[in-house]
Amino acid sequence: MLDQRALVLFSGGQDSTVCLAHALETYAHVETIGFAYGQRHDIELRTRLTMLAALKETFPQWAERLGADHPLELPTLGRISETSLTREAAIELSQSGLPNTFVPGRNLLFFTYAAALGYRRGITTLVGGMCETDFSGYPDCRNETLRVLQAAITLGMDKPYEIVTPLMYVDKAGTWAMAERLGGPRLVELIVEHSHTCYLGDRTHRHEWGYGCGTCPACELRAKGWETWQRAKSSVPTS
Ligand code: ZN
Repeated sequence: MLDQRALVLFSGGQDSTVCLAHALETYAHVETIGFAYGQRHDIELRTRLTMLAALKETFPQWAERLGADHPLELPTLGRISETSLTREAAIELSQSGLPNTFVPGRNLLFFTYAAALGYRRGITTLVGGMCETDFSGYPDCRNETLRVLQAAITLGMDKPYEIVTPLMYVDKAGTWAMAERLGGPRLVELIVEHSHTCYLGDRTHRHEWGYGCGTCPACELRAKGWETWQRAKSSVPTS
C-alpha cells in the first residue's frame, strides 16, 4: 500500500485524526480535505489546522508523507440544513428519531467533492472516519451506504475509486486504542489537547479526555470511550 496516494476527510476531530494517522502509516502520500459548511462553531476549522501542524511537528516520518490540505467552502449545505450544528437549536431528537445534529446527506456530499478533487490530483483512495458502532443513527455513516456510494462514484468518474473507513466497526474505546497503537502516547496527547468533538463548541472545560461541555451527546460518547479504554488498559496484566 505504501506506493498509494490517499485523500483523507479531515475535520480535526478525534475520529478523523485517527483516520489520518492510519493513512499516514499506510500510504506513501496523503492529502487532506475539510469543509466549511456553516458550522455554528468555526472552532472545528481552526482545530484542524492546529492538529495538522502538531502532527507534522511531532511525527517527522508522517510529515514527509503529508501533502496539501484542501479546505473547501460549502455554505449552501449549512443554509439548507435546519440542524443544531448549523443553527442555535437545542440538541434533541427529531420526530424521525435522528438526533437533529444530523446534516442530511453530509457524507454523500463530502465524498463526492473529495472524489472530484481527487480526480484532478490523481487520488482515487478516499478515507473517512465514519463508524457504524456508535454512529447516532446517521444513515450516511453506514457501511452499506458508503459501499453503494463508492460504486456510484466509480461509475460516475469512470475510474476505480475506493472509500476506506478504518473505524467502521470500531467503538470509541477502540478508537483511543488505535490512536495509541499508531502514534503511541504522544498521539493520544495530541488528540486530547487539540481535537474537538463537543457539539456546543466548549473549549473551556478540560477533562482527562479533552475539552468539552461534558454533557452533550458527542462529549458523552467521547468520555465513555475514554473510560472504557482506561479500564481495559488497567485490567491488562503487566507481567
Ligand atoms: Zn459537549
